[in-house]
Amino acid sequence: MAFRLTSYGGAGKVTGSNFLVEGSRGKVLVDCGIEQGADFCEECVYGPFPYDVAKIDALVVTHAHLDHVGRIPKLVKDGFCGKIYMTLPTRDLAELILRDSVEILGQDAQRKGHEPLYGAKDVDATFALIETLDYHTEKDVAPGISVLLRNTGHILGSASARFRDEDGTTIALTGDIGNSPSPLLPDWEPVTDADAFLMESVYGDRLHPPHEERVERLRDTLKAAIERGGTILIPAFSLERTQLMLYELSNFFSQGDLPRVPVFLDSPLAIHVTEVYEKYGATYFKPAAEAEMRQEHSLFEFPFLKKTLHPEESAAIGKVSGPKIIIAGAGMSHGGRIGRWEARYLPESSTTLIIVGYQAPGSPGRRMAEGAATVRLNGEDIPLKAKVVILEGWSAHADRDELLSFAEKSLAGKRAKAVFVGLGEPAAERFLAQRIHDYLGTRAIVPEVGEAWEVTKESVQKVSLKSA
Ligand SMILES: [Zn+2]
Repeated sequence: MAFRLTSYGGAGKVTGSNFLVEGSRGKVLVDCGIEQGADFCEECVYGPFPYDVAKIDALVVTHAHLDHVGRIPKLVKDGFCGKIYMTLPTRDLAELILRDSVEILGQDAQRKGHEPLYGAKDVDATFALIETLDYHTEKDVAPGISVLLRNTGHILGSASARFRDEDGTTIALTGDIGNSPSPLLPDWEPVTDADAFLMESVYGDRLHPPHEERVERLRDTLKAAIERGGTILIPAFSLERTQLMLYELSNFFSQGDLPRVPVFLDSPLAIHVTEVYEKYGATYFKPAAEAEMRQEHSLFEFPFLKKTLHPEESAAIGKVSGPKIIIAGAGMSHGGRIGRWEARYLPESSTTLIIVGYQAPGSPGRRMAEGAATVRLNGEDIPLKAKVVILEGWSAHADRDELLSFAEKSLAGKRAKAVFVGLGEPAAERFLAQRIHDYLGTRAIVPEVGEAWEVTKESVQKVSLKSA
């Protein structure tokens, strides 16, 4: 009796999270994400799933980022008809993210001349299968298998999933682990009761600056940028990063730390996501932020913030002269409204581009962060004259020391025989695995795509191809 864990996506890669957990009788998938970045593998996105979709009993979703949910409607379209489990905020956020992705995927398919990955009706069918779960409430989700969700403090509603088979064997998958402490979300919780766990490693080999410094640097950067008189562009991920930026901006302005300049939230998706944050803030934030929410109703509003939902309102931003701040997606500058503002303002030397998040290799954001002289946006080469400032530490991911601390606190349960390290670029995965081995004296495994591992209460072993 044992669990078998196979990584079908998110091994050696940050994006495309997709893991199969097989118990003695049941089969559960964890996440069904899409690969992102310019060098993503076509086959991994558009190709068939490498397992029999109809035989999967359930899907557990760790959080609503596209690289964890982006292929769920395809899974449903291809014949999956089990239940899909996630937290309540994850459901609301995933609905926004998936409906938004229908449009983006449609455009991508048109460019490449093939069928879209899925359509709106597949997203509808997906939402008919969702059942929401609270944190810390164990639930039977497949024959012989139960799941327990814990907060990972990564984005609103994010969770790790700990599975228990009927013989008592346990295995956990963390999804993404938050950059705790966050001003909004509770800190991540360790997973102390698993015989083995798979953890993320996006920042497995890098450190974030201390939290106080990141706020100070943001304020100083904005102040200097406003003084230069140009436009300030912040490509931000709609989920979490945008809300953190709005929260800090609101604090800066109310404390009189910044001259009052117009701020535009130019992303329908980010506007709707912020509404979900407002809806659940009073019950899903950390206690201090919950109290603030109950008192102020929103932590993300301030008088000269303009949310430009409609295209005409968005277009009007271009007519506003003088310094202004535009927050828009996509976070890696590979689409969305930010591309239009980048094409217009990056050739101006008074512009400041502030990069606040992970930029995947090959994405326009990565090229700009690396100091390219031109960047290709919407099929056009744009000269990059703007000042580019990279602000570290705003990531929603734990850094290398925080990840090691997560492993250490999880291993304090004295149960895990091995830690799987995934969801990172290969160097980050190997670096974190080495540190877990060296500092914590625990076996750390970097699984390959398609490789299966057997986890029992006594041991963790690679499944040889013959017996697979
Ligand atoms: Zn994530």
